[in-house]
Amino acid sequence: MPPPSQSWRGFARYPAVNNPQPRAPPRATRLPSNHGDADGAIGAARVSAIPVTIGKRMPAALAPVGTEPSPPGLGAPLVDTHGRVHRDLRISLTDRCSLRCTYCMPEQGNEWLAKTSILTLDEIEAVARVAAADGITTFRLTGGEPLLRTDIVDVVRRLAAIAGPDGRPVEVAMTTNGIRLRELLPALVEAGLNRLNVSIDTLRQDRFRDLTRRDRLHDVLDGIAAAAASGLRPLKLNAVAMRGVNDDELVDLVEFAIAHGAQMRFIEQMPLDAGHTWDRSSMVTQDEILDRLAARWTLTPVPGRGGAPAARWTLDGGPHTVGVIASVTAPFCGDCDRLRLTADGQLRNCLFSTTEYDLLPALRQAQGPVAEPVEALIDGMLRSCVRGKLPGHAINDPSFLQPARGMNAIGG
Ligand code: SAM
Ligand code: SF4
Repeated sequence: MPPPSQSWRGFARYPAVNNPQPRAPPRATRLPSNHGDADGAIGAARVSAIPVTIGKRMPAALAPVGTEPSPPGLGAPLVDTHGRVHRDLRISLTDRCSLRCTYCMPEQGNEWLAKTSILTLDEIEAVARVAAADGITTFRLTGGEPLLRTDIVDVVRRLAAIAGPDGRPVEVAMTTNGIRLRELLPALVEAGLNRLNVSIDTLRQDRFRDLTRRDRLHDVLDGIAAAAASGLRPLKLNAVAMRGVNDDELVDLVEFAIAHGAQMRFIEQMPLDAGHTWDRSSMVTQDEILDRLAARWTLTPVPGRGGAPAARWTLDGGPHTVGVIASVTAPFCGDCDRLRLTADGQLRNCLFSTTEYDLLPALRQAQGPVAEPVEALIDGMLRSCVRGKLPGHAINDPSFLQPARGMNAIGG
């Protein structure tokens, strides 16, 4: 068992921050949120709105006997205390990126993850195998920019070779900014990539340069053209809608997506920027997005969303559709089936969680004596993470605390 100080290392590296919004008066009861785990230790700090730093719980598999309920064991589905079955694991491959989108990363001064803490291909595969045995059916590769990883084709190949308990192969998807896609797509498809989401917030070069602080729109457009020519479907294009930045381009973006055989999805901007500058009053809401689109098309809701983050509407009766991911104004936490693995081996049960579950000691047993096989340790940590998942993210609660990691270090 690692000494307590080891499992609390994250304190110094990821101090939680105060929410810039006005404080709520102290509450007698906790609201559903992901600021902490089900045991309530973090919640107490949150209720008093005192700035707190959040560390990691000791995982069930490493805890002294008798302090945690025994996990159901490897191969059982990952069901949380609210009955949600987890089927989707977002795997962040790096926190580095070829762009510097204003809503995600600072222009300069980003604190990168230590290279020694980044999971190796073998370590990623070890986690993925256990996750698949526990019922995860989709791995989504993200970052940072996943295509910056030099072993990206091997990552896809190894993950695509994993099958679930029913013998069916898992699905491997990727979210990318599209730079390097033209060059890498044939190898990725050959390695077994199943689906692609490409992010593009604007079609105008000057805006792209201002928004991403890099003059790379032509590379993104090349990547999207390559994706359109590939057989990967459905192809999805993502844009964060921003007031005064690209909110006059929503119709153009949908038409661009249709022309490329893709589905456009707009994302409400979330408080996950590394600079902590998010401001509710300036974010573009789902209602505004739909109003803009309704001026051009008749929108009809598509039923049967399931666990998908995007609600969809047909355009003029179909077949084309548009999606909106309204995490702020219409949260879909009740159907959330996602877990996240950061590039440095931290499991997270929510984008907005301020608690992480450290897999590195289990994966790097050389750091300390462990008595159990690594698969059991990974399984135990997955179950601790799922067990700690709370009903909702509470962005709309006045005492919401933005996680200290920016989106690039969490994995979107
Ligand atoms: N670099 C890749 C990309 O941009 O597609 C993958 C990582 S990126 C963090 C994944 C997605 O998160 C992108 O579609 C991006 O637009 C979105 N994203 C990043 N920061 C966001 C924020 N503050 N609010 C909403 N979406 C955000
Ligand atoms: Fe990079 Fe994606 Fe973040 Fe933009 S959104 S800075 S492309 S990680």
